[in-house]
Amino acid sequence: MTQNLFATRASRMKASEIRELLKLLDQPGIISFAGGIPDPNLFPTEAFAQACQAALNAGPQALQYSVSEGYGPLREWLVQHMREIGVDCSVDNILITSGSQQALDYLGKLYLSPGDTALIGWPTYLGAINAFDAYEPRFDRLMLNGNRGAAEYSEAAGEGAVKFAYLSPDFANPTGETVDLRGREYLLDLADDLNIAVIEDGAYQALRYEGDAIPPVLSLEQARKGSIEACRTIYCGSFSKTLSPGLRVGWVVAAKPIISQLVLVKQAADLHSPTLNQMAVEQVARTHFATHIPLLRKAYGARRDAMLEALQQNMPDGVQWTHPQGGMFIWVTLPTGMNGADLLARALDTVKLAFVPGRAFFADGSGANTIRLSFSNSDEDTIREGIRRLGIVLRA
Ligand code: PMP
Repeated sequence: MTQNLFATRASRMKASEIRELLKLLDQPGIISFAGGIPDPNLFPTEAFAQACQAALNAGPQALQYSVSEGYGPLREWLVQHMREIGVDCSVDNILITSGSQQALDYLGKLYLSPGDTALIGWPTYLGAINAFDAYEPRFDRLMLNGNRGAAEYSEAAGEGAVKFAYLSPDFANPTGETVDLRGREYLLDLADDLNIAVIEDGAYQALRYEGDAIPPVLSLEQARKGSIEACRTIYCGSFSKTLSPGLRVGWVVAAKPIISQLVLVKQAADLHSPTLNQMAVEQVARTHFATHIPLLRKAYGARRDAMLEALQQNMPDGVQWTHPQGGMFIWVTLPTGMNGADLLARALDTVKLAFVPGRAFFADGSGANTIRLSFSNSDEDTIREGIRRLGIVLRA
């Protein structure tokens, strides 16, 4: 055995609490609000069947190696899509990645030397913590205070340089919260002051069920600085929550020198994202995106409403929760002293209910009295029943 030869970074890699948990969910009768996964019944499956067939019928290029930057027509579609959400860019500002998860890994690789500081939310997306952690950074808090607009940044202690701030400004995983315009502008001031990059994770951007869209951080920076080439914000997009997570297609939008360097990272890592998948996504995005998003908003919005209403009816005093305007998650804060992991053990055992204890989303393992509920993959009746069960274990 050669485990003693692993690099120091290997000791920082932990099995995700969520993945371990998902293994337990095959039991009959269980209601799961655990995985933050889209409802497969809402995938445009027929459209993908046709798109894959069309791509293969067009010739063998769909099965061939292709360029690291990504499939040209998909990048062209994304130029239009980014324009619709307020970002003005060209195809040369876009790199296709294998999901936005790969973009987070590449950005960690590109920016972080051991000991450097990454500013992240407290809590933040677990997959981002894990992706960055492999590059041996320190983490410090970026507090933009959700919908409340106030902002605070705790000075990073230590010698390593602060390299970037990472955030998911719309309907974040795990809290469901959105950073308002003031918080986004504050973030840009902070990034200019500290001379750091901003990694904007737009994974849930399209899934708004209420209220008006807030421009992406990249769009606001562009408005300040005139051109994307002057911007420090790196936008990571994904088709996972809108069209299909399994095809693993995402994208990065940034100033050209950043994209060029990321292309080198990609060449060294996996050459390019799968050709056929990119071709299929391009066709389905072109023909179905505009009509498919309203269907998702309607379906997921109704589930969010059902969960919020059921929480109102079933939660005992002292329990608080967020009111997300989109996305897939509601974040619940239990009374101090209560432990989300213990609650999960009891919920699985006594009422067959699963969710994710919130601690995993804090880089320092704090947040024991929080849990994440996902409403995306259960119908309204199941959501109501699951929250009723949560009320029972909380009162027990
Ligand atoms: N960012 C956030 C905030 C997420 O929740 C996820 C998936 N759960 C990702 C990125 C990664 O998504 P993908 O790699 O499928 O694009």
